Amino acid sequence: MRKLTPDNMDRAHKGGGRKNGINLIISAALDLIYPRVYCELCGSPLEKSAHSGFCGTCHASLPFIAGPRCHKCGKPLKTEADRLCPDCFSIEHAFEAGLPVFEYIEPVRGLVHRYKYDREYHLGRSLAYFMAELYRASGWKAQIAIPVPLHKNKLKTRGFNQALLLAEYLAHKCRIACLDGVLVRRVDTGTQTRLSRREREENLRDAFHVVKPSKIAGKDILLIDDIYTTGATVDNCSKALKNAGAGAVYVLTLATGRNI
Ligand SMILES: [Zn+2]
Ligand SMILES: [Zn+2]
Repeated sequence: MRKLTPDNMDRAHKGGGRKNGINLIISAALDLIYPRVYCELCGSPLEKSAHSGFCGTCHASLPFIAGPRCHKCGKPLKTEADRLCPDCFSIEHAFEAGLPVFEYIEPVRGLVHRYKYDREYHLGRSLAYFMAELYRASGWKAQIAIPVPLHKNKLKTRGFNQALLLAEYLAHKCRIACLDGVLVRRVDTGTQTRLSRREREENLRDAFHVVKPSKIAGKDILLIDDIYTTGATVDNCSKALKNAGAGAVYVLTLATGRNI
């Protein structure tokens, strides 16, 4: 599987050294008529109509959550009869509802890794495409998209906020406002991957703060993050937003694990 970086995308666009002579001329002429980009997974050229950034085969391999979901957090469920996942059965969330697009398994796991850690920013746009589609299908009506913020230390080491890029693309596509810097993370919680829900909860208490409450007062918010795990992060963001006067808070994420 070929990994695309801005460098090799550029080479690929120029023919990658494989095409020459007449093929290159035909290819260039076709590119003028049908501008093409390349599939984020397999690198094959895409027709202009392939808006998502994935070819048909790779698109079909993406682990969309298509079956029954938890009515609160949107995690996949075995049967519709369950209505709530075990977590939502025992926890009162601070947001109204959540929806993740994918299950956090391959190839989405690899895509998220390339996006977050290899800084393949172009993936943000392709991944946000599916979030925008799900938002449109959700029936939610939010006025403002807000990304889950990173602490400034984390922002320094990672170089960008993965949730902000997703929120910006989505907001642009869905024609809603995107506000960055209103919800801030004032406590550096470090990595939470190995912590239980209770430990995360403890770690995150008062970690988020709204600096300009007037910007969100009375507004319904679409909170954006890449991965939904226990919901502790978005719960604490939702509490901070609501304490500052926000109306409903909906949580849209790229992917989640199973909880069955
Ligand atoms: Zn492909
Ligand atoms: Zn749930």
